[in-house]
Amino acid sequence: MKVKFSFLLLLFVCQFSFVNAGDKKPKKPKHVILLIGDGMGLAQISAVMVGYEGRNAFARFEVIGLSKTSSADNYVTDSGAGATVFSIGKKTKNGAIGVDSAGKENLSLFEKAKMQNWGTGVVVTSSITHATPAAFYAHVASRKSEEEIAEFLIRRNCDIAIGGGKKFFTQRKDQRNLFSELNELGFTIAADSSFLNIDAKKLVYTLAENGMKTMEQGRGDYLLKASLLAQQNLEKYYGNYFLMIEGSQIDWGGHENNFQYMRAELLDFNSVINAVLDAAKADGNTLVIVTADHETGGLSMIENKENINTYLVNYATKGHSGIMVPVFAYGPGAEAFAGIYENTAIYDKLYQLMFNNGITKRRK
Ligand code: MG
Ligand code: ZN
Repeated sequence: MKVKFSFLLLLFVCQFSFVNAGDKKPKKPKHVILLIGDGMGLAQISAVMVGYEGRNAFARFEVIGLSKTSSADNYVTDSGAGATVFSIGKKTKNGAIGVDSAGKENLSLFEKAKMQNWGTGVVVTSSITHATPAAFYAHVASRKSEEEIAEFLIRRNCDIAIGGGKKFFTQRKDQRNLFSELNELGFTIAADSSFLNIDAKKLVYTLAENGMKTMEQGRGDYLLKASLLAQQNLEKYYGNYFLMIEGSQIDWGGHENNFQYMRAELLDFNSVINAVLDAAKADGNTLVIVTADHETGGLSMIENKENINTYLVNYATKGHSGIMVPVFAYGPGAEAFAGIYENTAIYDKLYQLMFNNGITKRRK
């Protein structure tokens, strides 16, 4: 009799805790910061962080996954398809921006965020109309149409854009001055490098005609300052926000097979990740994702026969490669990013966490 009762009690307890566990939803993030190191594969991180004496931001993450980066029409993606997949959740053709492989405009995460009154922003070291940021707010067949991409800011689905690319707004074939048009729509237009007293609900801030300077040319702590400025304004005016920060030129150093160029850009990105993580840890409501659209250069670390305690870097290509890239996650919902998955899953996970309160339902 006693045994029977204990058994029933055990059953009851098991049942009870099972229901409890099943009911548990992950905490919904209020802020999502997606940091994209363009062209930043594991070899880039490994080679730069060997012997680095500063703080390694990547080592601060406990949840790590791997993303398969192929596009709809090429095993080796470009940055247009590579960022579009994060923005619309579908693999598309190389070169496409915010459109699916049939060329059809799909609602982006930024557009879905605006429907829920979230703030949105991009902060980059390329032009703000370059492939990676463009994929979050524009819908065009080709990444090369930067003047056309600039016009999409008029739709007001990207609240804050900071980077280079002034000429695509002011020196256009159609003679329009998009800065005046955006200003009339409520955007603050800034172009000086002071970063002082910029308090804006909507902001287009360009600091170069096209791409920004490289770190080696003295860009300094621009990316850090710009990221903090975007965070402050998004927090102040929207509460909930989705911010994409790109280390754009990690890719450009890779295309040149120039390790020192890439290294300086990656270390700059590392300092921004550290600052974002510090703020996220203090805040408790911020999901931080660090990943790449693809690897650039086919970089490897090979034996240095002259000094076996060091290594040599070797590049296999001036283009991109098809190797998986790491995904680092911290904050509410971070656990969802462990494992090996297609790059489309990054969109799925972000969408579920931001707008579906973590209830897992596979999108078709
Ligand atoms: Mg890019
Ligand atoms: Zn590239």
